[in-house]
Amino acid sequence: MKNVAILGSTGSIGTQTIEVLKANPDDFKLVAISAGSNIRLLEEQIREFHPEICAVWDENKAKELEIAVADVVPSCRIVSGMDGLIEVAVIDSSDILITAVVGMIGITPTIAAINAGKDIGLANKETLVTAGHIIMPLAKEKGISILPVDSEHSAIFQCLNGERENHINKILLTASGGPFRGKTREELAEVTLEMALKHPNWSMGRKITIDSSTMVNKGLEVIEAKWLFDVDPSQIEVVVQPQSIIHSMVEFDDGAVMAQLGTPDMRLPIQYALYYPKRVYLEGKRLDFSTLTEITFSKPDPDTFLGLRYAYKAIECGGSMPTVFNAANECAVAKFLNKEIQFLEIYEMIDYCMNEHTNISDPSVEQILETEKWVYDIIESRWNR
Ligand code: NDP
Ligand code: MG
Repeated sequence: MKNVAILGSTGSIGTQTIEVLKANPDDFKLVAISAGSNIRLLEEQIREFHPEICAVWDENKAKELEIAVADVVPSCRIVSGMDGLIEVAVIDSSDILITAVVGMIGITPTIAAINAGKDIGLANKETLVTAGHIIMPLAKEKGISILPVDSEHSAIFQCLNGERENHINKILLTASGGPFRGKTREELAEVTLEMALKHPNWSMGRKITIDSSTMVNKGLEVIEAKWLFDVDPSQIEVVVQPQSIIHSMVEFDDGAVMAQLGTPDMRLPIQYALYYPKRVYLEGKRLDFSTLTEITFSKPDPDTFLGLRYAYKAIECGGSMPTVFNAANECAVAKFLNKEIQFLEIYEMIDYCMNEHTNISDPSVEQILETEKWVYDIIESRWNR
């Protein structure tokens, strides 16, 4: 029996993690949950799973939830704010923390969990993009495992089974190309929020869906892969594979290419992280090679989808530049989701912040969070309307 804690239990990854736990009640117990403000779903989760603790970011919502679940036996402790998230991350009884929050808010609780000796099922890529240089050595020092949940990274991780001694020549990171694949820059100027929210293959949270449409998501994943698999960014090649059947590949020195294939279903990488190294039955569609007519490949278009270009630039600079890339994107996407800016302004904001930034090498957590604040401040002053 494995005890599981989840940061972001109400989101796309969080609820799919719970589906996996529910399908395997003899193997897992949910001991801690958390969310930003969705107390309606948290209440359902508390009534169904009786976790020991539940964190709500919003303090008032936490108080409301406390009253709503007062009748639950055994009771669940409701906590709030960053201290609350940290309590969920380090709870004594957990064996693994699934980091399914969105954004840099995950940095502090993830580091706290690693310090407390918890294995991490990592979905929250923004944390690794901005603080990979702190997290990876710390995980090694504490002897804990970082198990990738992102489908591409899970695929690479699966391709590397039994290959630890072998040198990776190249990582072939697949990308669907998102809803705007093939569009020109002029056409991108016209796209709406509703169009950007329609991903062709995956149903995901709103922020990552926008990131997929700008290809910033793939950029974040290049940086994520660099940290997870200890490769140079020049060894990571993005391959557009629009059917999302090949989840990524690894090329070894002898020219052999290993790939992991499957239907697009996030429960597989989630379940693989939870059970690693064991594979168990997962109900769902299987690939049918008698009807699968094609798997196609093309090169990304980094001149149009600048997300990828900025990501390579950020990781080449290193230091605090990936934080600037990520934070500017988080800020811009929030504005785009609020219909405050146009699609292409997401790129403008990232570019502006990266150009204005004086890089800090090897930033501490405090410096990363200060850099995040600096980004939000300069975007506010430059785009103040
Ligand atoms: P969602 O937006 O669906 O869910 C985000 C979760 O984080 C929700 O539970 C939300 O709570 C919670 N949250 C937001 N802000 C806070 C906060 N301040 N404090 C505590 N909790 C908070 O996102 P996804 O599930 O799509 O993505 C989660 C992470 O996983 C992201 O980093 C994403 O890049 C990554 N990922 C997602 C994939 C997917 O298929 N969805 C695939 C690969 C990676 P509330 O509901 O209350 O807002
Ligand atoms: Mg992915």
